Amino acid sequence: MASRTAGEDRIRDRIDVAPRFTQADVMRLNNLFRGQDAAEAVASVMGAGLIGETAIVSSFGAESAVLLHLVTTAAPGIPVLFLDTGKHFPETLAYRDELAARLKLNMVNLTPDAEELAAKDSTELRWSYDPDGCCEIRKVRPLEKALADFDASITGRKGFQSATRQGLARFELDGDTGRLKFNPLANWTREQLDAYFAEHDLPRHPLEAEGYPSIGCSPCTSKVQPGEDPRSGRWRGWDKTECGIHSAVTPIGDDPATDPAF
Ligand code: SF4
Repeated sequence: MASRTAGEDRIRDRIDVAPRFTQADVMRLNNLFRGQDAAEAVASVMGAGLIGETAIVSSFGAESAVLLHLVTTAAPGIPVLFLDTGKHFPETLAYRDELAARLKLNMVNLTPDAEELAAKDSTELRWSYDPDGCCEIRKVRPLEKALADFDASITGRKGFQSATRQGLARFELDGDTGRLKFNPLANWTREQLDAYFAEHDLPRHPLEAEGYPSIGCSPCTSKVQPGEDPRSGRWRGWDKTECGIHSAVTPIGDDPATDPAF
């Protein structure tokens, strides 16, 4: 075995506590790829390994096929994280399987922790009185755990989807984790998405034609009327627009005594 100097030992033993990405990195990346076509940007970023270990996060919703096709064309085999909440429409699970086979996706299905589910959602009805808490158990925590192994995630969010997503940047920090979020379709329009579907002959989510332009878990997704925000059918009737994996939400307390009786 080769001997090491004391200096080498110090370098190897040092714990690197610096964040992986900073706001300055985000600004640099946004400037570097400003105005560049999404497919070219993805190919450059992934080809040069600019953002480290990366996974796609996909809901297999109405427009997910575009991001999945675009990214896996540049980076075949990239892990695709799917939050298997236990509350999806059967059509979504079938669509996931169809796209996974068609695009040869490296699927990673993330399920909630069984003990936490039993302790906090034994009725399976938490969505009806504490959707933030339900999302926390079924989406936020499983994703947090899975992303701990990655430097960056790629999302399919678009600025046009809702008032709260307008002006979405292509690159952003993932909260205070030091991870990066890459949103290649941030400035895409509905027309560009439709053209991409047609050009690559990608299958549509079966519920889209039934009036669901944004598709999440079945209890929390309703049809959208013409003229409404595409995401207005999500958590309708609640002051909630995001599940918590992209911006913080506020679950009610953990004390089961405060849960309603059914
Ligand atoms: S979207 Fe609804 S059912 Fe799905 S995890 Fe969130 S609150 Fe629960």
